[in-house]
This record gives sequence, C-alpha cells and structure tokens, in this order.
Amino acid sequence: MFTTDSKPNLEEPFMAGSVVNMDPLELQKGFRDPQLAQKAAQKIKELAKKKDFKFMHICGTHEYTITHSGLRELLPENVELIAGPGCPVCICPPEDVALAIAVANEPNALLTTFGDMMRVPAGDLGSLNEARSRGANIQVVYSIMDAIIAAKEHPSKEVVHFAIGFETTIPPTAAEIMGDPPENFSLLISHRLIPPAEEFLLEQGELGLHGFLLPGHVSVILGVQGYEHISKQWKVPQVIAGFEPLDVLLGIVMLLQQVKDGRAEVENEYTRAVTYEGNIRAREMIDQVFIPVDSQWRGIGIIPESGLALREEFKSFDVRTRFEIELEPQKLEMPPGCRCGEVIRGIIRPEECPLFGSKCTPENPVGPCMVSMEGTCSVVYGAQMMP
Ligand code: SF4
Repeated sequence: MFTTDSKPNLEEPFMAGSVVNMDPLELQKGFRDPQLAQKAAQKIKELAKKKDFKFMHICGTHEYTITHSGLRELLPENVELIAGPGCPVCICPPEDVALAIAVANEPNALLTTFGDMMRVPAGDLGSLNEARSRGANIQVVYSIMDAIIAAKEHPSKEVVHFAIGFETTIPPTAAEIMGDPPENFSLLISHRLIPPAEEFLLEQGELGLHGFLLPGHVSVILGVQGYEHISKQWKVPQVIAGFEPLDVLLGIVMLLQQVKDGRAEVENEYTRAVTYEGNIRAREMIDQVFIPVDSQWRGIGIIPESGLALREEFKSFDVRTRFEIELEPQKLEMPPGCRCGEVIRGIIRPEECPLFGSKCTPENPVGPCMVSMEGTCSVVYGAQMMP
C-alpha cells in the first residue's frame, strides 16, 4: 500500500527515499495520486504567489509525463515549465546524419543505429530510411551490444555504430570500446553532455530562467555533484526529478522553495534512484575512453566541450580512421518553415509552429522534433491525438 507514511510529504518534499523498498506498482500508483497532485499544485500556487517563474526541463521523458498527465494545466499561469534540448535525436547535427549516410553508402560498410535516427531529416540528403531504400547498408539495433554482434556476424564488413544519446547511453559505448571489440567495428560518435548545454543556455540569457528540472536517468550517472558547479557559478536552483507526475510537481515545489529561500543549490527529488556521487564507475569508464570536445547541437550551434571524441589510444575505433569520406557541400539546414531550433531552445511551444499538426505529423515529420518519441513536437501531438 502507498500508505500515508510513505506518501511524499508536501510540507517537506525530500523524503522520496523513504519509498525505496516499496512494491514498484504501488509506488507508481502513489506517484500518480490525483489528490496528492492537487495538493502539490496548491503548494506551487502558494509559493509562486503572483510573481512570474520560468523553469526548464531537459528531458523528453519529462515532457512526456508533463504533457500526457496534463501537468501544465495544473500549474498557475505565472509558473511556466518549458522544454529544453532533452531529445538526443532532435539535437543530433545533420552533418553527422550526412556522414552516416555516406558511410552506409560505402560498399564494404554496415551502419548500425537506433530506430529513431532512421527518420531524422538531413536537408537535401533526406533520412537514413530514404538512404536505405536507395540501397544503403543500414541495420537498426536496440543497443550497442547488437552492433558488436553484427560486427562478429559480418567479419568481411566494416560495421560502424552511429552512437547517439546523453550521459545515460555513453557508459555502454565506453564499456564496449574497453571490452576489446572486433577489429571491423568502429563508432560515429554523436553523444552529447547535458551540463554544458545548461551552461550555454544560461550564458545566452535569452530565456530568463529561474531554474532547471534535471533529468532523472542522466542524473543516475552524474549524481547531484555533477551539476553543483552550475548552481554555484550561475546562482541557479536545480532539482533532479523522477518521471512520475508527482515527481515533477514536487520538483517544481522544491525549485520554488529554493527561490523563496534565496538558495541556488542542486537538490534531489529522485532519491529512490539518484545519489550524491552518481555512478562513479560509469563516469570513470567515460573518462578513460573519451575526451570532451566542442560540439554542434542542432538548433543551437556549437557548445563548448559538450560532445565526446575518442582518446588517442582508442582512435582506431573512430569511423574517420576507417573511411576517407569527403562530404560534398549540402544544404543541411532545417526544412523551410520548421521552427525546431526555437522549440529545442525553449523559445516557442510546438503549437506555435505553423506546420504543427498540418504539414508536420509523426507519420510525416518535417523536422527532427516530430521524429523521435522524445521530441517535444511528437510528444505534444501524441497527447492531442489521445481520445
Ligand atoms: S511541428 Fe514539425 S516543423 Fe514545426 S517545429 Fe516541430 S518538427 Fe519542426
């Protein structure tokens, strides 16, 4: 039972750790309790008073919870919760997709990637799906382990894994590279790091943010400590939150409480999964294999030290050492009319794009934000189509 004792206490919403031993289904039910949600919404209203607040989350799963649970409708008008660059498919630069298509067109190559990447448009070049229909050699995989298996099954092919994702998906990539992968295996790396993106957005200052709701899964790796430098330097409140509706609402309560108290710290609502240290071993593996490099984010531009490159000792697993590919100059910008860049930066909501739901739908996506299940446009469209 989700008893009174184990319910998150709205007066002191830091006790989610006390539910660690609960049955997961009961726990989930508790974190979806409508009455508790109403109480949290009331607390938000009290804390926010009449002042305007703008908080950003950086996670496609948070957007899914917020939109599909109608959480924005629960918030008072003066508390805005905007979506930032939390979808790894959406921010993957078209130049990387162009390189992936070029590799997949090589006669001795097999490109492996995740299903979501297949439909991402790269300007005039189209998508990986379109390239495959023209004969490019591409296999959809569920994990990098499947890509390694493909390399073992096709020893005469150069198998290139198009590796995307944030801190959650980087450790498996690092582990495979440290684990003596087959010689015919290499990586096209499009991994990105969340904290540098936060700092970049704060530096740009175009949003006037009052705080960040941080992604629970990324934080399992980074821990509370992974964001502390940001709160310290930028004096910005941050709260790590889980993915149930009440997690999100409690996260907002905690953010508002910090503002009210004049604090700028990293707090952890998701204590049932995230620790202060995070996953130290996973981060060590990332450090052993990769170095941070300035990297392009679609819709944003180059963010300092926000991507990864293989260290010198692992350079032979970089796709660029296997193929000499000179990319022709191509038109790779967003399709005409698509406002994904502004959606990704949290400047507009998907509904403000004139193509939303008319020319652009998940069945016929115009821009990357409508492609992935984690893309903000796709999430919002999906919720609108629900009966
Ligand atoms: S609705 Fe489609 S075209 Fe508009 S911003 Fe979203 S993905 Fe781009």
